Amino acid sequence: MRGSTACHGQSTQRYGGNTSCVSVDIGTDSPIIFDLGTGLRYMSCGEDDSATPKPFVGACLLTHLHWDHLQGLPFFKSLLHPDTVIDIYGPRQPDGESIRDVFTTKICPPTFPICISEFAATINFHEIGDDDFAIGETKVMSRFVPHTGVTLGFRVTANNTTVTYLSDHQQPDGDFALTTGARQLCQNTDLLIHDSQFTPAEFALKSNWGHSTLEFAMWVAETTSAKRLALFHHDPSRSDDALDVIAGRLAGIAQNRGFQVFAAADEMSVKVSALVS
Ligand SMILES: [Zn+2]
Ligand SMILES: [Zn+2]
Repeated sequence: MRGSTACHGQSTQRYGGNTSCVSVDIGTDSPIIFDLGTGLRYMSCGEDDSATPKPFVGACLLTHLHWDHLQGLPFFKSLLHPDTVIDIYGPRQPDGESIRDVFTTKICPPTFPICISEFAATINFHEIGDDDFAIGETKVMSRFVPHTGVTLGFRVTANNTTVTYLSDHQQPDGDFALTTGARQLCQNTDLLIHDSQFTPAEFALKSNWGHSTLEFAMWVAETTSAKRLALFHHDPSRSDDALDVIAGRLAGIAQNRGFQVFAAADEMSVKVSALVS
């Protein structure tokens, strides 16, 4: 699960090269998707490459409008089915431009063969900020978090189980600290999916690029009493072998601090339970 840009090749094959897209399946409702990166194309909805498109009804919680979080949408085959309905909840833009207008002016000729409005599916856009709302049975908390450009993090709760998603999160350039909103999202969560793009040496050169170090992600998990931490938004230059070493080293540290950590990978499925301790 890579940040910034999709990548391929043997060195990134095991953890995968797709950009951010996570599906949360609570069993009873339509799935909730975090972000619309290139992984969306592979999201299971009962189809294969040779089959006709199947309808999809669900919601997307969109953190922000950077390319790596949008690019999967026009390649999501279910957009070709007229019964598909996707509700996209994304951050209200400071300049007043609607999210619909952003998509309409980015997914269109000459940068894409057709306009997004020409897909058969219904796509509804919802502008949100620091909000608390429900999607079906799922409680959703959205909070603005530091990044480059207006960006949200999300906390979803269903069946007394909570998942938090901060894919792109600017670490402070100095002492570790959390905004009130970010802390609200993370506190006591069962699974924290968190930006882990940089090593400290990389962060020293890119401290204003909007991302976190692995160490900051570990600190966020510990300081908010998260039960599990999924390292996410891996730097595209990070090899799988390097990730293995990092994840192995951090697993021991996390165990001593009372939580679990692992490196997220394409097509990884994680069962989340409030009973995990
Ligand atoms: Zn990103
Ligand atoms: Zn970003």
